[in-house]
Amino acid sequence: MPVASPPALEAFLTQELALLERKHWQRACRVLEPTTGPLVQYDGRTYLHFASNDYLSLARDARVIRAAAEALAHYGLGSGASRLMSGTSPLHEQLETRLAQFKQQEAALLFSSGYLTNLGLITSLVGPEDVVVCDHANHASLIDACRLSRARLRVYPHGDVARLQQLLERHATAHRRLIVSDGVFSMDGDVAPLRELVDVARAAEAWLLVDDAHGSFVLGAHGRGSLELCGVEEDVTVQMGTLSKALGGLGGFVVGARVLIQWLLHRARPFIYSTALPPAVVAGALAALTIVEEEPERRQRVLVLAARLREGLRAQGWDTLQSTTHIVPVLIGETATALDVAQALLAGGIYAPAVRPPTVPEGTARLRLSVTALHTDAHVDQCLTVLHDLRARMR
Ligand SMILES: *Cc1c(COP(=O)(O)O)cnc(C)c1O
Repeated sequence: MPVASPPALEAFLTQELALLERKHWQRACRVLEPTTGPLVQYDGRTYLHFASNDYLSLARDARVIRAAAEALAHYGLGSGASRLMSGTSPLHEQLETRLAQFKQQEAALLFSSGYLTNLGLITSLVGPEDVVVCDHANHASLIDACRLSRARLRVYPHGDVARLQQLLERHATAHRRLIVSDGVFSMDGDVAPLRELVDVARAAEAWLLVDDAHGSFVLGAHGRGSLELCGVEEDVTVQMGTLSKALGGLGGFVVGARVLIQWLLHRARPFIYSTALPPAVVAGALAALTIVEEEPERRQRVLVLAARLREGLRAQGWDTLQSTTHIVPVLIGETATALDVAQALLAGGIYAPAVRPPTVPEGTARLRLSVTALHTDAHVDQCLTVLHDLRARMR
């Protein structure tokens, strides 16, 4: 039997890309150039940036830059190897100690990104005999990590604790059961029902893992994150966070019991087989963490600004979902409409791309606005004015 030869790679990919474009799923990286404050230049024009995760505006803080520059001059650009081979500088250890202290946990372990942290963490905790139960809105890195672990993956509707409980009961005979949730949901801006998750986990003797990429350094009286906000810091089995959002750098970390960190050091493949973070990045994160500790008014400002934005949007009739944090979604629905809205925002001087499937479920395309410490009331009001005019035109 003659076997049909596959189409040439380029022809195949061209066809597949055309399909994505027809669904309005096409993506492109836009080249942004920072100017001052929350302003960016894009394609020759200046825009107010409402899409950054640099919530505390620390990425370009002069103290952070100075610390990173000094480490760069001293240690050079790269770490030269994985942490276990020769890639651990005194700075890596210092940052781990400081993160553990800050989060009031026994120990911490750094990874080269938040994505890699989740891959390493989950694949080290569960395997084929086990069951992982995830919130439907969990970040893609958590889902990918669960798949890679080869544990059985079960998903409950966003925030549906009763359904979670059912799933745990149904899998009561599994070897181990792990509940996995974002602390702050990255595209919805709501906080997970952590108190209830803790209770359900305890009753079912399951472990609870919280990804606090967005809550860390912003939420809670001391900025320790969504666990502090919900009063469950003692009750969650393991939490991760990143250096790439509120700390303005790059990298991820796990904090928890000392034995957990020891275990990850032996088991987490992204830790073992990937080059350590550059010392300059680690030094920058250390300086950023100091600022977080010394300037609580930064995170307070961000939350006050976010509330102003959210309340303004709700008064105009926009659906901001269950957001209570510095992430403020504006639900649009249809993907093509969301693209039009984002385009209209651009025309009004606001940079905030549309978030579309597969990042969010079909039919829930949205804007995802985020405020930062360098935004002012006037910036927020400018964004509100543009959206107000847009809403009037859409009616
Ligand atoms: C951004 C994000 C990550 C990944 O972190 P990176 O450092 O960007 O790789 C993980 N989890 C959540 C919830 C995130 O929003």
